[in-house]
Amino acid sequence: MIGDNLQAIKTSLPPGVELVAVSKFHPVEQLREAYDAGQRLFGESRAQELKAKAMQMPSDVQWHFIGHLQTNKVRDVVSVAHMIQSVDSLRVLEAIDREAARIAKVQRVLLEVHVAAEESKTGLTADEVREYFAFGGYHRLQSVHICGLMGMASNTDDVSRVHQDFEQLRELFDEIRGMSSGLRGFDILSMGMSHDRDIAIECGSTMVRIGTDIFGARG
Ligand SMILES: *Cc1c(COP(=O)(O)O)cnc(C)c1O
Repeated sequence: MIGDNLQAIKTSLPPGVELVAVSKFHPVEQLREAYDAGQRLFGESRAQELKAKAMQMPSDVQWHFIGHLQTNKVRDVVSVAHMIQSVDSLRVLEAIDREAARIAKVQRVLLEVHVAAEESKTGLTADEVREYFAFGGYHRLQSVHICGLMGMASNTDDVSRVHQDFEQLRELFDEIRGMSSGLRGFDILSMGMSHDRDIAIECGSTMVRIGTDIFGARG
């Protein structure tokens, strides 16, 4: 079942769009099924759950952290994450940089940008991101590689609003690439979940994060 779901999604993705299987709240047995079907990128949203699953899964899994990251959990997450997609403040970015430097790792991250209507969602504002790159803030990072942006659209049936949110992310992504000449490897635009991935792809997503359509509903 999980293997069939993965297969169906993968064949529907255009070339150049990567798939992160969002396995949060699902038991390790289900992650193994996905792994046996060839999936290697998994997304988790809680530090403890990520750590526990990483210990039980093969070491060639690439773990993507996608949840809100508190500074006191930075150490746990940096120790296992291939990529942290949910960097939602400069403070946590600096904490990640310090921890990665301490363990001599280059931590790949995405900056999470808030474009959705819901205030409850986390992320930097587009202006904060713009300013950060305009003033070359990233030059101060020692052990973090900013690989791109991540974002979520508003949670609504209004397709035009969802489209508008993803367009805004894509435009910001292009703008940063245009203005930061020294910026290398800034090429991931992570947007699109189970229900809105087609719109995200239309708007230029290079990475979708899909849980429900692979593993079914969460608890
Ligand atoms: C849970 C989650 C997803 C996956 O959502 P589905 O609707 O189950 O596909 C994607 N991105 C983030 C940031 C999430 O927290």
